[in-house]
Amino acid sequence: MKMEKAVVVFSGGQDSTTCLFWALKQFAEVEAVTFDYGQRHRLEIEVASAIAKELHVPHTVLDMSLLNQLAPNALTRSEIAIEQKEGQLPSTFVDGRNLLFLSFAAVLAKQKGARHLVTGVCETDFSGYPDCRDIFIKSLNVTLNLAMDYQFVIHTPLMWLTKAQTWKLADELGAFEFVRTKTLTCYNGIIADGCGECPACVLRRRGLEEYMKEKEGITQL
Ligand code: ZN
Repeated sequence: MKMEKAVVVFSGGQDSTTCLFWALKQFAEVEAVTFDYGQRHRLEIEVASAIAKELHVPHTVLDMSLLNQLAPNALTRSEIAIEQKEGQLPSTFVDGRNLLFLSFAAVLAKQKGARHLVTGVCETDFSGYPDCRDIFIKSLNVTLNLAMDYQFVIHTPLMWLTKAQTWKLADELGAFEFVRTKTLTCYNGIIADGCGECPACVLRRRGLEEYMKEKEGITQL
């Protein structure tokens, strides 16, 4: 039997779209929430809305422009280059982003009678983002339960997966083509396979190639 109701933190990218398909398999009812924090590419919000609509998932877009006001970064300001210097966090890092997103998602979820929160954070391809770590998610889960006197469960289906394994999961969920052709991961705002050059595209393609190779090997056996 499917479990209760879940709210998925959803950006319209590969990871959160895979999580959305995962949630649709696990839960009786699923909603999605997207945060508008002044992303460079407005297309991100449109892509998220279009995917939610196509999958018949109720979708809420929350204004989080204060995040951009607090912490200008490469995801919101076109004059800041996307880069990662040796031993430093990439310029796309926003302090407290997952803390804020998950906390706001939890407030929304409680109002909607959902205990389950789903997020695509991942520790494996860890770029040094401290609030993507499993220990942070577990700590926040306890904090949210205490803050709202409610038994939230934060699910992180991608936490220990490589990018190739995330493609595999999408495939197992029957969503491989959907994720490949309809999601937006590229920092330059190009849907599907993207620009091919930005760090997000490189990571996505490397994972895809690795998975395709593995899949070919299996089909040939
Ligand atoms: Zn790109």
